[in-house]
Amino acid sequence: MKHWKNGIIHTMRKQGECVSEMITDKGIVKELGENLHPDETCEAIDLKGTHVYPGFVDAHLHLLGYGQMLTRPNLKLERNRVRVLRFIEEQFKGEPLFIEGYFDIGLEAFDLNAISLEQPILLRHNDYHSVTVNQVILDRIDASDTTGILTEEEAEKAIKAMHMHTKERLSYMLETAIDDLYAYGITGGHSDDLAYYNGFEETLGIFSDVLSKKAFRAHLLVHHEVLDDYERFLKKPWKKNAFLELGAVKVFYDGTFSSKTALMHEPYLGTRSKGLKIFFDQAFEDLIKRVRSLNLTLAIHVIGDRGLDEIVEWLRRYPPKEGQRDRIIHASMATLDAIEKLSDMPVTLDVQPQFLSSDLPWALDLFGKPPQKVYPWKSYLEQGIICSGSSDAPVEEPDPLLGMHAAITRISKHDHSCYYKDEKISAYQAIELYTRYANAQTKDALKGIIDLGYVADFTITSENLEEVECDALNRRLVIGTVIDETFVYDRLPR
Ligand SMILES: [Zn+2]
Repeated sequence: MKHWKNGIIHTMRKQGECVSEMITDKGIVKELGENLHPDETCEAIDLKGTHVYPGFVDAHLHLLGYGQMLTRPNLKLERNRVRVLRFIEEQFKGEPLFIEGYFDIGLEAFDLNAISLEQPILLRHNDYHSVTVNQVILDRIDASDTTGILTEEEAEKAIKAMHMHTKERLSYMLETAIDDLYAYGITGGHSDDLAYYNGFEETLGIFSDVLSKKAFRAHLLVHHEVLDDYERFLKKPWKKNAFLELGAVKVFYDGTFSSKTALMHEPYLGTRSKGLKIFFDQAFEDLIKRVRSLNLTLAIHVIGDRGLDEIVEWLRRYPPKEGQRDRIIHASMATLDAIEKLSDMPVTLDVQPQFLSSDLPWALDLFGKPPQKVYPWKSYLEQGIICSGSSDAPVEEPDPLLGMHAAITRISKHDHSCYYKDEKISAYQAIELYTRYANAQTKDALKGIIDLGYVADFTITSENLEEVECDALNRRLVIGTVIDETFVYDRLPR
């Protein structure tokens, strides 16, 4: 039992509501108010005038992908041949070795063979289109090339041939990701990991093991390619882990702007292409029907305005069961018609405010005429559509405060201009994206605000996030992260 006092506790039940004390017990908020009288066994925690918010949640990221990025050795464009070779030797631990950030200084398979002829070694070039590999990989992919320097398709084949994920390695990636997220004030994340590594069952087992040692509220989407495994899994009992739950079936409907594959109404400039549809209609319809027959919901990646219009129609034709909600991931561009229709549909949107700051203005320059609505978060919220905040890490840095900054200011990091200022949201709404609304898809809904009976997950900041100067919004303000009543990150003043 803990007595939290001298804080400015923002309940987020309604705007402006703060209390200075609370009592928590067994991971749950028991009392809220002023001058509380805890019993003597209660541990006192002096918050020293800091600000407490409901624990931040990232509603769409890739936990293992992020951990992979954090844990892979990186040459950081070193150009000295001796230092590059020494780095590779030091990193080689008798296991497959994948190194990022290699600047092509002409190393060949021959040089890497001297380090290992048993385990694959791959250096990814900094252009992301080429790799240098040793003989083990050349043999695995049957390459005609003997230099070991591969590009494009052959480079991709080489990456696929790495088979590099031992169980220990995946656990380490996950633990590293979670430790890193604590410092951003993140107490939970919705992640899409179960189809990309060692298969559904083993990857799920790794989550279950790691989360039994490390507090973090993980909500996992299930990629449709492992739907058979999910179906089998749903039929058998499993040891419940309070920090782990499985959610919607993840499916890609279109692509991205950078590859000009987001599905749009307007063609990409200089082409007749309007983007890419990942599925034929019949295959998509069959998939939705199957998902519904299993009483499951969908989490659909869609970026383009035409893609969103089509998804709206599909979901209206095949709605989820009463009480369930589908989720649409990104919904970056929209027509007015889609926004109006979404307003009375059982669906939530996983939005990434940092995309605006990364993608504008260049994404608009891809079209002759801009879409009707561009990252229209205010319009969505005004229509009563729930928007959950997220980073899509490792695509963006998983910093909810940077996300809030982008949603409040709508400033591009490229030209520092504000885009579509009518769509700016308030600081309070921006906090809601990562607290109240980020939990809209979790199974028991007692998360996302600070209230009696709700989980004792908190993000503690040195400043009032609604009052601090916008440009100060970043991870440095986070001084504490509490999950299940326990500090997992603590920089509170002593
Ligand atoms: Zn993603």
